Amino acid sequence: MSKTTVDILLTEGWLVTMDSQMKIFPRGGVAIAGDRIVAVGPSEEIEDTYQATVTIECQDCIISPGLINAHTHAPMTLLRGLADDLRLDVWLYGYMMPVEREFVDRNFCYIGAQLACAEMIRSGVTTFCDMYYNEAEVARATAEAGMRAVLAQTILKFPSPDATNYDESLDYCRNFIEEWLDHPLIIPAVGPHAPYTATPDMLKSCVTLATEFDVPIHIHIAETALEQQGSLDLYNTTVVPWLDDHNLFDAKVIAAHCVHLGENEMRTLQQYQTGVAHCPSSNLKLASGAAQVQKMVDLGLHVGIGTDGPASNNDLDMFEETRLASFLQKGIFNDPTLLPAKDTWALTTIEGARALHIDHLTGSIEAGKRADITVISANNIHQLPRFTRDPEAVYAQLVYATKATDVRDVIVDGKLLMRDRRLTTLDEPKILEQARTIAERIDAFLIAREGNILSKLLAISVDFIPQETFEIQVKVSLPELIDIQELLIAAELKPFRGSTREQFDTYFLFEDMEAGRLRFREDQVKTEQGELQDTFYRMTLMGPTIEKEFENTIVLSRARYTASASHSLRFYREYFKPMAEREVLKHRRRCHIVYKDTDFAINLDQLMGSADNDYYLEIKSRTWSAKDAVRKSELIGELLDIFGVKSRSQFKIEYVDLVQES
Ligand SMILES: [Zn+2]
Repeated sequence: MSKTTVDILLTEGWLVTMDSQMKIFPRGGVAIAGDRIVAVGPSEEIEDTYQATVTIECQDCIISPGLINAHTHAPMTLLRGLADDLRLDVWLYGYMMPVEREFVDRNFCYIGAQLACAEMIRSGVTTFCDMYYNEAEVARATAEAGMRAVLAQTILKFPSPDATNYDESLDYCRNFIEEWLDHPLIIPAVGPHAPYTATPDMLKSCVTLATEFDVPIHIHIAETALEQQGSLDLYNTTVVPWLDDHNLFDAKVIAAHCVHLGENEMRTLQQYQTGVAHCPSSNLKLASGAAQVQKMVDLGLHVGIGTDGPASNNDLDMFEETRLASFLQKGIFNDPTLLPAKDTWALTTIEGARALHIDHLTGSIEAGKRADITVISANNIHQLPRFTRDPEAVYAQLVYATKATDVRDVIVDGKLLMRDRRLTTLDEPKILEQARTIAERIDAFLIAREGNILSKLLAISVDFIPQETFEIQVKVSLPELIDIQELLIAAELKPFRGSTREQFDTYFLFEDMEAGRLRFREDQVKTEQGELQDTFYRMTLMGPTIEKEFENTIVLSRARYTASASHSLRFYREYFKPMAEREVLKHRRRCHIVYKDTDFAINLDQLMGSADNDYYLEIKSRTWSAKDAVRKSELIGELLDIFGVKSRSQFKIEYVDLVQES
C-alpha cells in the first residue's frame, strides 16, 4: 500500500492530544498537511500510512497542543522592568501611561510585538490574546512571526497614545478589523480597556462594532477590589451587572482577570459563554488578589491562563504561569486537590482556546484542526526520572516540572516557527538591537522627569492646561482673633459669598529645597450651620522663593502649579516619595469684597493644633497679567491701611503666588 504524502510528520513522541476524550499516546505521531492536522494516533500507524517532506523525531519529547496565552499586552515587552513594586494606580498613572503617551507609536508597537513573539515562541506559545494600541502593527509583527492571535485594539474614554478620543479609536478599530478579518492567523477584536475607563456610549459603540463583524471583545473585568467598590459607589451595582445592563455580552467577550467576582457574576459570565483569562503572576505582583479559578471551572466557565503585559509580570513564560495558576488555587483556598495538573494543562491549551472563542481552530491535537503544536523535551535533569504506572503523570510533568527552555520545536498553522530552539521567522539580534535603542530613549526621558517635580507632576495631569495666573496674596499674623464682619462693615466694605472651611494641608518636603514643596489640600466647605457641603482636593507645587521688591514691599514667591487633585494623598505620597511631610490643619472663614472695582477674597484663618492658636488674615486676588498684579498688590496695601492697622510692622507679609491654573 502506497503512503500518503504530507508536509510534516511528528513521530515517537509522548502525545497529549487534549481532545474531548483527553487521549494520550505514549508513543504517538501526528501527520500535518498544509495548515491542518490530518491524522493523530500511535506513531507506528501514522508512519505506516504517511510519509512526509519533513519528519521530526520526537523520542523523549512530549507533543502537546501549543500553549495559549489568553491575555497580554505584547508591545509592553519594551517597558519590562521600567517600574516595579508599586501599587496599581502609581504604576499605571505614574509610569505606564505617561511613558506610553510619550513613546508608543507604530514602530514601538511593531518592535515590541516582535520581541514578544520571539519570547512566546521560545516558550511554546502558539496563540495569544492581546490588547494594545496601534494593533495593526501588532498584527503585522504577529503575522510575520507566524503566530496565531486574537488582537484587540484598545479603546479608552480618555486620550490614548494612538487617538485623541474614543471615536478615533473606534474608527481605527473598524479599519483594523476590515483589514485583518480574513487573515488565516489573525482574529481582530475590539478592546474597551475596562469598565472604569469606559463610558456607556463608548461601550455601546464597541458592542455594535464587534457584533457587526462577529469579532470578540477583549476587556479587563474586576481586576481589583477597588474597581468593584468604584462601581458600587458610582453606579450602585457591581461590574458584571453594570456591563450586562450595557449589553456588553451581546458580543463574544474575553474577560481578563475576573479576580473579584461574586457567584452571581460568575453565573452571568457562564450564561453568556464569556471566556475568562486568569493572570496569576500579574494578580500576585500587583497584589490584586487571587481569582476563584476552581470555582469558575466548576460553574462551567471557560478559563484560560494569561501572562498579562510583560510590564506587570515581567515575562511571557506560560509554563511558569500555568504552574502558578495551579499552586495559587491550592495555596489560597487551602486544598491541594484544587486545579490538578491535568485540568491546569487544559486551561493552558484547549480551555484557553474556548475562552478565546477559537476552539474550532486550535487548542487540541485532532484531525481537522489547525496544526498548532509544541514539542517539549522531557529528558532534562529536572524532569527525570519518569514513571509509567499512571499515564496521566505526563500532566504533572508538564505543569510542575517543565520549563519554557525545554520547548524544542513549535509549529503554528502547519509551519515550523522554531526547530531545535532556533527561530525560523524572526531575526532575534536585530529585534534586540531595536528594542535597546527604544529603551535608551525611555530611560533618558524618565531620568530627566524624575529629577524635576514639576515635570513629574505634569506627567500625571492629563487634562491639565497650564495657564499663567498671578495670585496676589498678603498674609498677616494677628495677635488675637478679630471679628472680620465688624472690621469690614466698619470699613464700609460689604462682605459677600461667605463660607466656613476646614482645610487639611499635607506638605511634601524634598531634600533639595530648590525643587520646591508640594501641598495636597483637602478643603471641606461647610454651611452656616457647620454641615459639610462640599469637599475639594487640590495639589499645589510651590517653587523656591523668588524675591521681588514691589513698591509696597510685598515679597513674591512662586506656586508653579495648582490644579484639582484627581488622585489620593496616598497615591501622591507613593509617587513623589517625599523626604518628609508636614501637616497643617486650618479653620478658615472666607468672604469676598469688592474694593475699587476689584474682587478680593478675605480669609480669616485659625491654625489648629499648635500650642497657642495662630491667627492670620489673608487678602488675595487673582489676575492674568504681571502689570495688573502690581496694581492689585498696591490695592492690598491700601486695604491693610483701611483695616486700621496703622503700622506696617504689625504685618508679616509672606508671599504672592504666581500660579499655573487649570
Ligand atoms: Zn491586562
